[in-house]
Amino acid sequence: MKVCLQTYGCQMNKLDTALVEVALTNNGYMLTDSVKDADVVIINTCSVREHAEQRVRSHLGHLKHIKQHKADLVVGVIGCMAQRLGAELLDDGVVDIVCGPAQIPQIPDLIAKTLREKQKALAITDQIRKPTPPDQADALEEFETIYGPEEKTLPSQAYIRAMRGCDKFCSYCIVPYVRGPETSRSPQAIIAQAEKLADTGTKQITLLGQRINAYEYKAGDKTYCLADLLEMLSQIDGIEWLKFVTSYPSEKYYDRILRAMADLPKVCPYLHIPAQSGSDKILKAMNRGYTATQYLDLLAKARQIVPGITLAGDFIVGFPCETDDDFQETVALVKEAQYKSCFVFKYSPRPGTTADKRLEDTVPLEIKKQRNYKLLEVQEKISDRLSKKFLGQTVKVLVEGPSKKPHLNLAEGKNYPQLVARTATDYIVVFNGPTSLAGQFTTVKITKTSPLTLFAKLE
Ligand code: SF4
Repeated sequence: MKVCLQTYGCQMNKLDTALVEVALTNNGYMLTDSVKDADVVIINTCSVREHAEQRVRSHLGHLKHIKQHKADLVVGVIGCMAQRLGAELLDDGVVDIVCGPAQIPQIPDLIAKTLREKQKALAITDQIRKPTPPDQADALEEFETIYGPEEKTLPSQAYIRAMRGCDKFCSYCIVPYVRGPETSRSPQAIIAQAEKLADTGTKQITLLGQRINAYEYKAGDKTYCLADLLEMLSQIDGIEWLKFVTSYPSEKYYDRILRAMADLPKVCPYLHIPAQSGSDKILKAMNRGYTATQYLDLLAKARQIVPGITLAGDFIVGFPCETDDDFQETVALVKEAQYKSCFVFKYSPRPGTTADKRLEDTVPLEIKKQRNYKLLEVQEKISDRLSKKFLGQTVKVLVEGPSKKPHLNLAEGKNYPQLVARTATDYIVVFNGPTSLAGQFTTVKITKTSPLTLFAKLE
């Protein structure tokens, strides 16, 4: 039996897909990239933006067409869209399995049952904001513990989920309604997973959480925060770089985490810390819980405690009632923040969120597009200036592997294929080198730059 897995959305979804892949291969399935060759197609979906859901719907339309000639094809939808839409997804005849994020341990059984009994299957959480029932929490933990250490997204790199869910309820965000309450995994489980990964050659671990800096695990009298976790992970031989995403702008544990970054050589000096807007009025409507000044103070503190830290941000433009003046405040914040890079998204209302229920989507699409373009333009100039500082420098990088999109003639050393690597501060570096370097640390000299990429030659 061949399974084709496809993923939309964030790193958390990619990790879920990777775990499902390992679980299915361990259950005797073969993986294929081709929908045409597959007996089962599983789509891991994202609900964070309307566009992501539209792409899944259009893909389902394509699969419906294939199913007309291949009636036995089993189609499963897992992830956030499965949890959000539930049984509705089963209605138009193409989808056979709907499985929410909390039910992914059931996927091998759901597929086997659907193939055997030719019946549709639905496995989602009924009351998503209630604490996860112990049997379900145990199943998720077991799934992660068994299959996590085998997952390797890139050579020598692995992601470990430190937290599930979110309790923050930003007014535009669907995550708390599809991923459930915030829970932190035990440090012991995370450390055990990291040790196994180190034993099989992992050099870099990235901890994942929707608000990773809110990590908090109580055991007896002791409360572990992210700084404790980083300290414990730092002691594992073989693990050389530790990263974590995504950070939420908040004071709690902030200093401790930054001090861990400054004091522990393995913790990479990089913080992805979305601001979302530079207007206090919009931040309040987003329920973000901070002002632009407080946010910038957090960035200043990061730079003070961790000299040389690199920062990245996220923004939503065109949020309900965002005026030109509000947008100019966002532009001013981006100029002040001096991010290495930032992602900019056009607001799209998500059904079920507070913003969708209470605020009218007032900003026309054309204005959203203009603001998106303008903000990226401002950021590009900043990124370009910051990248140029690397010219002539020798930097240590962890090599990911051959470049999928060759950057012709820009890297040096043309006898070799083009490789992609990253610095500890998350800069992308492209250079020509032997593919045997994939998964290895090496040093390269930066010879050219563009806003988002550094070009180098092997030292
Ligand atoms: S912190 Fe806010 S934006 Fe991030 S996942 Fe939670 S609710 Fe969504």
